[in-house]
Amino acid sequence: MSIRCFSGKILDKDFNLIDGYLEAENGIIKKIGRGNPPKNPIMEGLITPSFINAHTHLADYPINLNLSEYSLAELVGPNGLKHTKLKDMGLKEKQKGIKKAIDNGFAHGVTHFCDFREGGIKGSKLLNEVKKQKIPNVKLFGRPNKITTPEIEKLKKYIDGLGLSSVNDFSPNELTKIKKKSGNNNLKIALHAAESEKGQKKSIKDTGKTEIERAIELGPEFLVHVTHPIKNDLELIEEKNVPIILCPRSNYKTGVGLPSLEKIMSLNIPIGLGTDNAMINTTSILDELDFIIKKYYDNTEKISKERFKKLFKSSTVESGKIIGVNNRIKVGTETNIMVFEDKVENLKSIMDQNRKIKAVIKGENIQNV
Ligand SMILES: [Zn+2]
Repeated sequence: MSIRCFSGKILDKDFNLIDGYLEAENGIIKKIGRGNPPKNPIMEGLITPSFINAHTHLADYPINLNLSEYSLAELVGPNGLKHTKLKDMGLKEKQKGIKKAIDNGFAHGVTHFCDFREGGIKGSKLLNEVKKQKIPNVKLFGRPNKITTPEIEKLKKYIDGLGLSSVNDFSPNELTKIKKKSGNNNLKIALHAAESEKGQKKSIKDTGKTEIERAIELGPEFLVHVTHPIKNDLELIEEKNVPIILCPRSNYKTGVGLPSLEKIMSLNIPIGLGTDNAMINTTSILDELDFIIKKYYDNTEKISKERFKKLFKSSTVESGKIIGVNNRIKVGTETNIMVFEDKVENLKSIMDQNRKIKAVIKGENIQNV
């Protein structure tokens, strides 16, 4: 494979924009230089690390529900509508849905997903089959149908970790079992936590502890949502250095409210972004950023360059680090990059009306958009 050269403005490993070029060989970044490229570039533009979608439920894609008619529990709770519809859905339809959800993300710069795959061993096997046929990588956090040692042991062959719903959905006995598995077997665990106020209230009522306190006792890799932290939840998360995957668009659409973005970002907590259920949202992180800017800052003019840079870092290299992917633009790493049109003065311009991704590159694969 010959050397491929890209030139323009490059967001380097320290997240500074430099004028220069990037050379890749066999899908690996070989050289990053300042100034004019030594050979003709195959593409010019603003070059950034790719997006990582750190939380999805890809198989929901074909489900169509009128969200405003249902509560969060009715929609996505353990016996909720989503799960009934997933059970009724044929294998082919599920496969097709997952493929479409992956393609939608890839066309918008997502080279890696981290999916919470429901449906036990069968569900995880299905995603494993589909992901073989796609360029973006999918980290699979599977969900056992029952919390038993044989079920989890079997499931382990197909997954990168366990992706669980809220601690509220498990008995104390089951939680002890999960904790034992994560401690002894080096099995990664991630959970939804404090998604709704109701869930927090239930947790306090049942156990005297918050959902976050109980989730952290399990030693999780990361928590998803944290829309409603109470008491010292955020301080505990910071102290234990547990990353949070925020999904504000999903929280807004399911009616649970929005997470306190500024508060969370002011703390020393690693933050990633996810798009959650594919029946609710597109799998595009660019759409998530667009939503965040509109909801929290009104428009692109009003968000500071520094805040946007931090958000962009969260949605690319921070999300990557949390799910175990190195997509920093650095010599020796896989070429996981996006090339945006036009040479622009600052990163925020990505969100301008005419922003456009020219191409998404993962390793040796180039997808022109
Ligand atoms: Zn979720």
